[in-house]
Amino acid sequence: MPELPEVETVRRVLDRRYRGKIIAAVSVGRPTFYRAPSARAVRLLTGGRISGFRREGKYLLVDLEGRGCVAFHLGMSGRITVQEDGPHARFALRIGGETVRFHDCRRFGRVGCPLPILGPEPGRPGFDAGYLRKILRGRAAPVKALIMNQALIAGLGNIYATEALHLAGVRPGRAGKSLNRAEIGKLARAARRVLALGVELGGATLDDESFLDPLGRPGSMQKRVKVYGRRTCGTCGGPLQGTRRRIAGRASLFCAACQS
Ligand SMILES: [Zn+2]
Repeated sequence: MPELPEVETVRRVLDRRYRGKIIAAVSVGRPTFYRAPSARAVRLLTGGRISGFRREGKYLLVDLEGRGCVAFHLGMSGRITVQEDGPHARFALRIGGETVRFHDCRRFGRVGCPLPILGPEPGRPGFDAGYLRKILRGRAAPVKALIMNQALIAGLGNIYATEALHLAGVRPGRAGKSLNRAEIGKLARAARRVLALGVELGGATLDDESFLDPLGRPGSMQKRVKVYGRRTCGTCGGPLQGTRRRIAGRASLFCAACQS
């Protein structure tokens, strides 16, 4: 699933390329095979002039001059591709002689979806150690599940939550309420740092996910991860272990030497 850095990488490419341009046509392919975009979204997009692309958490939004905006959720792989032209069975936009194609409409991708309530995101106003303390206080749920809850904090998914917890030295399965003040301060800084690094490196292109930017370029965050998708800790070289219980549906790795 693309997380904040991957969606931001897509946003930057699309914004640079299409800001100010008009969406000449919208093709919806055969909506029986995926969740069709809303009629309102198609109406807003068709003939609209793009005033820019924005991002809220893991959602990509296109602003259309005088028409409001349409939100996209990129689905499992986060793939949007730019093609000179060609057949497109599913959702695609024609902009300036190019086809911008959305690949994952079948796998949780959505076009014209309502934006859910999102918490503040690390690196933007509203997110700091004080805020993190407030949302962890009294919570028995695993800290990893809490920081991946988009209504509490926007942007962290499995990769970046795993890395932020490792950088902060905190095990993923610990109860939110068990973190002390110093650990919460470290975790707030770590969340900002791993997301900023992910954006700087153009996202993570791992074996089990196929993230590429709209021009087909991979990111390089995968070379800097210390835990996610690895067998040994990238900091101390020790073996990694998984939490006994799954967190948010996934086994969660950590290093017993670096994280307490
Ligand atoms: Zn370690």
